[in-house]
Amino acid sequence: MGNTCDLIIAGGGVMASSIAYNLLKDGYTGRIVLFEQDPVYEYASTPRSAGGIRQIFSTELNIRMSQYGLQIFKKFAEDMAINGEPAEIDFKQRGYLFLANERILTGMQAQIALQQRLGVNVEVRTVEETLALIPELNVSDLVGSVFSPEDGYLDPYSVMQGYIKQAKHLGAEYIHEQVAAFLRDVTGTIAGVRLATGETWHAKVVVNACGAWSGDLSKTMGVDLPVVPLRRQIFHFDLAKPLKNPLPLTVDVSGVYFRHEGPKIIAGLSNTVPYEYNFQWEKPFFENEIWPVLAKRCPNFETLKLERGWAGLYDFNLVDQNGIIGGYSDIPGYYVATGFSGHGLQHAPAAGKALSELIRLGHYETLDVRALSPERFKTGQYILEEGIV
Ligand SMILES: Cc1cc2nc3c(=O)[nH]c(=O)nc-3n(C[C@H](O)[C@H](O)[C@H](O)COP(=O)(O)OP(=O)(O)OC[C@H]3O[C@@H](n4cnc5c(N)ncnc54)[C@H](O)[C@@H]3O)c2cc1C
Repeated sequence: MGNTCDLIIAGGGVMASSIAYNLLKDGYTGRIVLFEQDPVYEYASTPRSAGGIRQIFSTELNIRMSQYGLQIFKKFAEDMAINGEPAEIDFKQRGYLFLANERILTGMQAQIALQQRLGVNVEVRTVEETLALIPELNVSDLVGSVFSPEDGYLDPYSVMQGYIKQAKHLGAEYIHEQVAAFLRDVTGTIAGVRLATGETWHAKVVVNACGAWSGDLSKTMGVDLPVVPLRRQIFHFDLAKPLKNPLPLTVDVSGVYFRHEGPKIIAGLSNTVPYEYNFQWEKPFFENEIWPVLAKRCPNFETLKLERGWAGLYDFNLVDQNGIIGGYSDIPGYYVATGFSGHGLQHAPAAGKALSELIRLGHYETLDVRALSPERFKTGQYILEEGIV
């Protein structure tokens, strides 16, 4: 017979834990069990993320999801406190800064107008105004920048732990085992999971929140979910000559991004690599692709000292690089929250809230995320987002 509960979540990262937390906070009374294969989250994407929180997206839905997340993160420490212990996430609202040449600025005009219409505090800054933010910049090729001062960056591991602790506090159970397969009954309805141990667990509702692993896990019941692991690297370095001001999360015209991490700096760049579970970071990639850009952009970076790096996986949506949230009409009880392609941390609060509503009520109330349903891969109604970094 195996074990039974009401709702199973495969995965125990920020997405899974936000879903469990939101369900329980919103009044769900069933027994929720989360299965997490990695008890110390060594390879989970969340702790390996850059922690960037931005409202600078080109589609209304992504902007609204970011706005929702921003409000949550601003009050996270107090709202997620347990027994008076604040859930600190080190949120630095130092802004997001896209450095712009003529082509980039022209290309961003429509999205800036949309962001402003939706109430985002974002504006074009002149070269002089950009220099006021980062005085050391080489601006010879820039016409200005796009700046959203309320955005910024935070500690992703602490956000994940905040959700895990609250979910547990409200009654969710975490079991450190690997899900080997999803199970369906003869009618096609979701029935539960089989673990790598061979043990089975049965529930009427099963959520796949396995991030970069979610596509492969979906295959175990013959469902094509277009999510693959895509390696992204981050490099951590020190400067002999510190910068005058704390950095916004700054995105160079080349795509190289950088921000402060304490007194030091981290930087990254999205590149073309095979889809694989690869956690190697490569110093030559930094030396050949990132350092030259940084050194040209700012003299303080010329003599930087690379201290370490790491690699993590995007839950990369091969079709339209946006979150996939919702259920399938032909698999009652089965839901997914994955595919965020580099913006899943900041959208975890909204995704968790949305799935809580869909599972409990059968519809969305706070944010209508129907456009992110996995059914869009059948209809071809994709979400075209320009702001994928
Ligand atoms: C280098 C890098 C930089 C990023 N920067 C940003 C950023 O600036 N802003 C932003 O918003 N997002 C960013 N992201 C994306 C963000 O980290 C992810 O979208 C988000 O963390 C996904 O959360 P998750 O819970 O779905 O995945 P994860 O944190 O990976 O959690 C999924 C969990 O599922 C578990 N699991 C997998 N398979 C199984 C199984 N079969 N059984 C049981 N457990 C299983 C895994 O062990 C893992 O712990 C970045 C990602 C990377 C790699």
